[in-house]
Order: sequence, then structure tokens, then C-alpha cells
Amino acid sequence: MKDYNFFKDFRSNIISQYEDCNAYKLLCSSQFYDPSKDLNMEVDMERVPFIETTLFKKSANMYTILLRTEPKNLEKWTVSSSTSGDPSIVGRSKKDMLQIKEFIQLEQERMDTSSEYNCVFYPEPEVMKKYKSTQILDRPTESYIGNILSIFPYSENTNYLLHPSEGEFSVDMEYFIKFLNEHNHKDDHVSLRGSTPLLYNATQQLKERMKPFNLGESAIVHTGGGGFDGKKGTINIGTKIERWRFVEEVSSFFGIPEENFIDTYSFTENTFPITGHYSKEQKDYLFHIPRWGKVIIRDIKTLRPLHKQGDRGLIQMLNAYGTSSFAGASIMVDDMAEIVSETRCPECNAEVMTIKIIGRVKGSEAKGCGATLDIKEVVKA
Ligand SMILES: [Zn+2]
Repeated sequence: MKDYNFFKDFRSNIISQYEDCNAYKLLCSSQFYDPSKDLNMEVDMERVPFIETTLFKKSANMYTILLRTEPKNLEKWTVSSSTSGDPSIVGRSKKDMLQIKEFIQLEQERMDTSSEYNCVFYPEPEVMKKYKSTQILDRPTESYIGNILSIFPYSENTNYLLHPSEGEFSVDMEYFIKFLNEHNHKDDHVSLRGSTPLLYNATQQLKERMKPFNLGESAIVHTGGGGFDGKKGTINIGTKIERWRFVEEVSSFFGIPEENFIDTYSFTENTFPITGHYSKEQKDYLFHIPRWGKVIIRDIKTLRPLHKQGDRGLIQMLNAYGTSSFAGASIMVDDMAEIVSETRCPECNAEVMTIKIIGRVKGSEAKGCGATLDIKEVVKA
């Protein structure tokens, strides 16, 4: 396995980003920051200026300014699913796409990709990638999650339950029920994966008309792409889903142990997905930060880095890899997390920073987006 020297590689990535992307350089200058002079030790990483994910939104109209290369060098624009119709747009080269693939492969074991029979609460990857795809500067836009799905090494027996109908998607419940009956009481290595609200919704529907199933000890539930606030893309089930309630209800109805629940957190502007395993004791998913990435949790008001167990704040992600085409080396997302431990997962003892994902910051809680204003003013001046 490749050896990652995160600090060294992050330093060279941020210095190149400073040189390649004028908008980022201006942001740094406005904070009197020069990475080649100011980033010398690991602790200095906390001072590296970050770009907020809101700047990648279509409405901010800065996604070309945030490139580190000419648009002709991009393979595609990866686009987030968006309830509001204001997606993030991130230009990626072929090399940067391959980096995402490498990180997913490195997490294969944790994501239990070897399951033999899979039901996925998403459309087929190619369908999802092309859904509402357009061209920007001669390059196609493609769903980010669609790209993740096409990278994910599913076995041959995989059924994507979301089928297009009348411009939207609907869940093939008939197939889902058939799948459940086929594997009931068999202890097969099956997985239910995909969108949290859709799986939750399907569970609620079945509960009203069927007896619980028993998929057994070898079955897993792997959700991804958020949605615990009840919203994801065009899906809105109107209620927030508490993680423990999701796990308890889905676990008891399908007869899948709670320990077999995992969730993957990623967003369009980031390169390394993080995966959490469910802790019965903590009633939440515990996400491991892999050694090829770094997370800083910042106070929501002061933006000061936090370090204590139980501290909650905004999530900043540092990327040493996979951002050669866009200014994604230091990204602040409008989601909050809680520090479980900076050094070790209390449940499985892995020696990694461990966090819980709390969810989207509400408008009123959010800080005045200081950095956003900075960069917009500086760039447009
Ligand atoms: Zn763990």
C-alpha cells in the first residue's frame, strides 16, 4: 500500500494551488498568508486559508475562477444534487477522478464491498451521471454521486432500485420485495445501500403491510450522500431522520444487526470520502478520518480550531491529493461535526481521528461567511 506523507504532500498541494489559482492567492494575500513561508510544521495547517463550499455554488458563479487549470484540461464538471436548484459545480481532470477511485478502493474493506447481492437506492450509475447533464465550456456536467456509484466496485448481482419515470425517479418496490423474500432467513451476504431517506421511506411503506424480515448476520446497510435531514436532491420526505431511529427501525424490520450499519460522508468539493460504523453505545455513526486526509473542526462563531472530545463545529477538510484541477486543497463545508477523539476510535480502537456528523448548519447559526465575502470582494475588485 502506498505510503502517504500527508503533511509534506499537503504543503506542496497548497503551494501549487496558491500559484495556480489567482482567486486563492488573493484570498491568502487578504489574510497576509503565503504558504511557502507560513506552512512549515504540522500545527501550521490550522492557519491555511480555506474556501467555503458555497463559493462553488452555481449561483456564486465562481467555479471557473476556482479552477487551477484551463477548462479544456478538465474531464468533466462534477455537480452536486441540490434541493434548491443551486448545485455545486467542481471541475475535475481525469487524474483527479482517478484519485477518488483510489480512495474508494482503499476503503473497500470498511465499506464491505464484497457483498454478493446488492439493492441500491439510487439509479444506475450511467443514468445518474447523465441525468440533467449539460455542457459548460465544452465539458459535460455529471452528477457527483453518479460518479461515485460508477467507481464503487459492486458485485454482478446489483440492482439499482431507482428507475426514471416522467422526469423523476421512483423506487421499484416490487423488485425490492422480491429481493427481500428471496433472501429472507438465508443469511446471504446481502447489502442495502444508497440514499438514507429513500431506504427509510421504503421501510415505512413495507412496515404498514408486511411482517418483518430476517436478512441475518451477514447483511449490511450502507448509506451515503447525506439525507438525514430528510432531503437529498429532489427527494424531500419532509422530516429529519435521527440516525439512531433510522438504524433501530431499519435494523429491526429487516433483521440486520445494528453493528452492520455504515454510512459514508462525502461532498462534491472533497476528494476523500469518510466512512462511519454505527455504535450501539453512542447511538451514532463513528467516522474515521483516514491517514490520506485531514479534518479540522472549527468553532461556528469564532472559527477557532477545536480539539476537545465533545466539541462541535464546522468541518474543514484538507486535501493533499486529487485537487490538481480545482482549488479544493482546503475546504470548509456548511456541515457540523463533533469530535469523538483526535487519536483513536473508542469503539474499534483504530488509531484515527474519529468524529460524528451532526448535519447542516442552520442559517441563523452560521457565521457571517467572512471568508466568502473576502474572496468575492477581493476577486471582483
Ligand atoms: Zn471505529
